[in-house]
Amino acid sequence: MALASVFVMVFTAVLMTGSAQAARAAEVRTVQPGPAQSQAATFRTTTTQATIARTTTTKAQTTQAQTTTAKPTTTQIRTTTARTTTTRTTAATQPRPSIPAPTTTAAASEQNAKTLEDLYGDLVGSTRGYEAIQARISGNTLTIDVYVNFKGAYDTVLGGTIYANLAKQGFRLWAGTYKGSGYDFEPGMTFSVQVVIHDVYDGAGAREGQHYFDFVCLNTCGRSFTFYGAGYYNRELLGLYDGAIPDKSYTNGSIGMYKGISGNYTAAQYIKVAAHEFGHVLGLGDLYGKGVAPTKECPQGRYYEQGDIMGTHGEVTPNNIEMMLEAYTTGWYQAYVNSGLPEVKSGAVKSY
Ligand SMILES: [Zn+2]
Repeated sequence: MALASVFVMVFTAVLMTGSAQAARAAEVRTVQPGPAQSQAATFRTTTTQATIARTTTTKAQTTQAQTTTAKPTTTQIRTTTARTTTTRTTAATQPRPSIPAPTTTAAASEQNAKTLEDLYGDLVGSTRGYEAIQARISGNTLTIDVYVNFKGAYDTVLGGTIYANLAKQGFRLWAGTYKGSGYDFEPGMTFSVQVVIHDVYDGAGAREGQHYFDFVCLNTCGRSFTFYGAGYYNRELLGLYDGAIPDKSYTNGSIGMYKGISGNYTAAQYIKVAAHEFGHVLGLGDLYGKGVAPTKECPQGRYYEQGDIMGTHGEVTPNNIEMMLEAYTTGWYQAYVNSGLPEVKSGAVKSY
């Protein structure tokens, strides 16, 4: 539902000016100096170095292992894709090199097909190990670990299920099998997404040092929201308390989930709204209200029925996953259109 834009503005302003939040802002600045775009560049560079450093040993081991077992042609292909991965992490905005056209047999065609790991790497270098959202890729499987702390009226029953469990069903709507296309990933690709939820309640049993974003279940009506900084997506801050947020009991990336806009949601609606808000935690902006026509890549759809989950509560699309991975690997919030900084249209959106 609606992003709390006023709060985001406040959040951003404090990050820039410091003042009352000097200590905290300074801490942020050490990671993110300079204006918004340079911040992203700095973040990318740091991440990239880590990625390359860690990838070197992994890739070497992998290549070695494959050399002993795989046919010569396979080795050749793997070498090419490893180089592609490095190019991609150093220059996220450059077009991906295309792979050679598939040869005649089906087996050869499968060998040539890129995997999710070929395109994005294993993501190990982008993970510190304590973030509220952590992802990893192995072959054609993306696994997203979600660390969430439920607060408020999470044990209220709706349609036979408590709010917290409906919310988790919403997060899991991002799991599934997806196909690439001319718009997203590579045509002919098929990959799966798994969502693993680590949930705690009022902080009880939270793992030491692990960040959890808050999911606050409200038993009043309103437009549900997510606290996040449009433009700059920092997973390391997810789950940390932010003094810039008017209600200091909310962490960065917090979802404030109302029981409905003007009346109670049905269970199905609750699940969809939770899935949409979770998209914000993953670094995606809103699609609805942006004045763009629906496309196959970014369908807007109708309320709670079809279309894009970042529109008005449709489905999770391959494009949503692509945007998530872009946010994850670049540290940059993925917007559907240019609204000026900090909302810059995502490179993952190609259909308009
Ligand atoms: Zn939204």
